[in-house]
Amino acid sequence: MRYKLVKGTKDIFLNDINKWQYIESTSKKILEDFGYSEIRTPIFESTDLFSRSIGVSTDIVEKEMYSFKDKKGRDLTLRPEGTASIVRAYVEHSLVPPVKFYHIGTMYRYEKPQSGRYREFYQIGIEAIGSISPFIDCEVIDLALFLLSKLGLTNLKIRLNSIGCRKCREVYKKILLEYLKKKELCKDCIRRMNLNPFRVLDCKNEQCIRVTSTPPSILNSLCEDCKKHFAEVKEILAEYKISYFEDPRLFRGLDYYTKTTFEIVTDELGAKNSVLGGGRYDYLVEELGGDSTPAIGWAFGVDRLVLALESAKFRFPDESKKLIFIAWTTETAKKQAFKIARRLRTEEFRCEMNYEKSLKAQLKLADRLEAKLTVIVGTHELKEGKVILRNMEDGSQRKIDIEKIELELKQIMC
Ligand code: AMP
Repeated sequence: MRYKLVKGTKDIFLNDINKWQYIESTSKKILEDFGYSEIRTPIFESTDLFSRSIGVSTDIVEKEMYSFKDKKGRDLTLRPEGTASIVRAYVEHSLVPPVKFYHIGTMYRYEKPQSGRYREFYQIGIEAIGSISPFIDCEVIDLALFLLSKLGLTNLKIRLNSIGCRKCREVYKKILLEYLKKKELCKDCIRRMNLNPFRVLDCKNEQCIRVTSTPPSILNSLCEDCKKHFAEVKEILAEYKISYFEDPRLFRGLDYYTKTTFEIVTDELGAKNSVLGGGRYDYLVEELGGDSTPAIGWAFGVDRLVLALESAKFRFPDESKKLIFIAWTTETAKKQAFKIARRLRTEEFRCEMNYEKSLKAQLKLADRLEAKLTVIVGTHELKEGKVILRNMEDGSQRKIDIEKIELELKQIMC
């Protein structure tokens, strides 16, 4: 019986895994420099946590969650995003603000798989909990841009909006409902329109996207406080020459957002051009049982970033150490070769050997594995206390003392 990947998932290996590792290790370094520390939360949480945070009438909760009952009948869900779990952890462990976390991991959404959209995908995200200052809005946007450009993505654009607080949204809801009433919407949108008309604006149905392309701007419904906050965010961005374009349609598909919302888009991705999205969520900590605490965060899709970088012909650096292959000629030599490989690995060289193949086939394998050097252990040379060192790039060979292998390799490898 042969099995296939589940639809919307993928295996990442060989050349591709370097890309993921490069993105993860570079992101870790940069995020730590910006004061974020890593948090790992479980891949599944109680279903209620997500439906309450993300919102019952969102696409994610209505259609996309991988929910199941465990053997004791608990309702659990594979995390569709990172923020809810991190805020749950923040409240559960009674952490004291300010807190800055980053997370790296897989997310699960039952979406229609296509290029750049999967059912299991990787996100790297940050959450800055505890500040209401517009400076933090700008800091996280600036960090997002800095990180994506350090990772190699150029020509980035910021879509920026403010979706206000509860007060502003009550005002805007009426205006939006009035606008939506006259539109021909999909069944889902008609059903959820009165409950949560904002979700109509992020419906993925093409007809809905077309007929709601110019909604009334929420910016005209902002209260004084939200207006001031947004104006300050824009002022700081302008002062630091961070360019953006305002997009009053940017509601971002999750109910917990308040005030500033943003996305970073790139032309490299075609229609699904958003690589990173985020915003403020000033009510979420309170809604999940904590003290009222403002917060802001973002996440980018690693899979989507890889696609964008590939499309931009970015050359991913290979961060792995150069490989040394240890080959042998006879059974007696194989034992010595095994000993040498063991010795070199404890000295932190990256070594590989094969126990079955002929010498010719071993050298072929060394080539396929892109070894930089091969140490050939032969009975004849062993008698002289030597091995052969073969440069795999030009095929040149020379004899070296067994005792001096490490020394020689260090000189060549660095
Ligand atoms: P969101 O969590 O919806 O705000 O999305 C943030 C980022 O995650 C997006 O900009 C994408 O890069 C990525 N993303 C979201 N959904 C998917 C998906 N189904 N497949 C791949 N990447 C995704």
